[in-house]
Amino acid sequence: AQGTVGFHSIGDQLQRRLLKQGFTFNVMVVGETGLGKSTLVDTLFRGQVSRRSCAPNGDHEPLPQTVEIHTVTHVLQEANVRMKLNITDTPGFGDLVDNSECWEPIVQYIEEQHSHYLDAELAVNRARIEDSRIHACLYFLPPTGHSLSPLDVKAMLELQKLVNVVPVIGKADTLTKEELHAFKERVREDMETFGIQPFPQPREGDEEEDMLRMLEVKEVMPFAVVGHNHEAQIDGQTVRYRKTRYGMVNVDDRSHCDSAALKEMLFVTHLQDLIDATASVHYEAYRRSNLEQPE
Ligand code: GDP
Ligand code: MG
Repeated sequence: AQGTVGFHSIGDQLQRRLLKQGFTFNVMVVGETGLGKSTLVDTLFRGQVSRRSCAPNGDHEPLPQTVEIHTVTHVLQEANVRMKLNITDTPGFGDLVDNSECWEPIVQYIEEQHSHYLDAELAVNRARIEDSRIHACLYFLPPTGHSLSPLDVKAMLELQKLVNVVPVIGKADTLTKEELHAFKERVREDMETFGIQPFPQPREGDEEEDMLRMLEVKEVMPFAVVGHNHEAQIDGQTVRYRKTRYGMVNVDDRSHCDSAALKEMLFVTHLQDLIDATASVHYEAYRRSNLEQPE
């Protein structure tokens, strides 16, 4: 429905305990400056997360540039499910003077969240642990139409050791349908070549239904996203779109772009998998390597 994220429909998948207490879901956006990260956050989470004002004609004011890693928290309630959604926005890679290891502060941030969780687990009097571990890292690729840059390859290889990496193509409206099709194919080949393993990966105990769900994502991946900058009322419905050279891109229309498909993957079809993989793959690896290290 309009104005909801849709996570209430995963209700039957989630454990009862989580449902009762509510649960936390942490998403981060990463990539070069100017690829539309902050704009997409605004688009994906509809009005709920928006910090920007809208002029009377429906045009949006531009978003301020993101200058530091910062998290915005939102408590969303849909049906009987309560979700605490944390969105971590990051400054673009290009903003740093030395770009050679520009992913380092982000890697460090993700590790710190694992570390907080581990400390809390080890504490004698552990209350319910505040979970700030990143469940999904949306990695923005520039819409170049060319091969992956060495920087993006290296950054994704570093990030995937710690977090579920979800590659997206930013500003996808700047490519034609044909260019986009070819570019996606190219990105998938490059990922294969360089050993980049985007979410979701097959896991032990997967059943046929899990494999099918995974294949659906693999077909769309990398998600070609477009963020909106206009809204209009058409037949009583709010239509969110971006004006481009070629016409209007309706960001909620799947024949126009993958923004809606990405949202469905995050909040409906793979929400549980993102949370599970974070705990049992990424956090577990971190925990093991930290507990093994002698003091
Ligand atoms: P960030 O630096 O990655 O957070 O990028 P912003 O969200 O701040 O957007 C940078 C610029 O790109 C702004 O002028 C946006 O209006 C524009 N932009 C954002 N999303 C899109 C998109 O999907 N398509 C196009 N063509 N431009 C976009
Ligand atoms: Mg930004």
